[in-house]
Amino acid sequence: MKLIFLGPPGAGKGTLAGLVSRELGVPQVSTGDIFRDAIKRGTELGKKVQEIVGRGDLVPDQLTVSLVKERLAQPDAAAGYILDGFPRTIPQASSLEQFQSLDAVVNFTISDEVVVTRLTGREICKSCGAIYHVTNMPAAVKGVCDTCGGPLYTRPDDSIDSIRNRLEVYKRQTEPLIDFYAARKLLKNIDSSKSPEDTLVQIRTGLAYSPRS
Ligand code: ADP
Repeated sequence: MKLIFLGPPGAGKGTLAGLVSRELGVPQVSTGDIFRDAIKRGTELGKKVQEIVGRGDLVPDQLTVSLVKERLAQPDAAAGYILDGFPRTIPQASSLEQFQSLDAVVNFTISDEVVVTRLTGREICKSCGAIYHVTNMPAAVKGVCDTCGGPLYTRPDDSIDSIRNRLEVYKRQTEPLIDFYAARKLLKNIDSSKSPEDTLVQIRTGLAYSPRS
């Protein structure tokens, strides 16, 4: 299955993309993770995007599209994938449809209030990328990843200024994609304001698949 996970920052795209990609046996392709990894390793790409990502602005379309194109050409993405955080603009979506045909776009719906609460308490594992929340989904041992034992950190763009900017950028640049994909009859709306488990059950129903046992 070739899927897009769409929604505002903090809607749960990354958490659910991780869960669903395991159930479907397809890779999760997160542009945010690609950029963060490049920044961490100090590559040319990382240096180019560091400030933009830190502010919560969007990386230029051309650069982002070429990275995704390269990633989707890898053999593991031939049968399917989950695009998490891409496309984020109409030009990105138009480029994508030139070289890929999609099965569905999962659109996560959630209020601004819930998003802000989630992002202000979010913690990420430095080693494996697992996502936690200080109060809603805490790690068993404070600051330590349950899965791999790696250290947890707060993303620099999860500061309140950057969160506000990311929400504005989402409304201005990304929200128009809802109509874009509705017009193509690909859109599945999913309420992601409750738990990840609740959201996962809705996605399975929406996409009509059962988890592998
Ligand atoms: P979130 O959905 O929580 O905002 P992501 O991890 O998806 O976080 O993205 C983090 C940052 O990476 C974005 O704020 C933006 O700077 C950059 N980014 C990710 N995906 C894209 C994209 N498709 N186009 C442009 N910039 C992107």
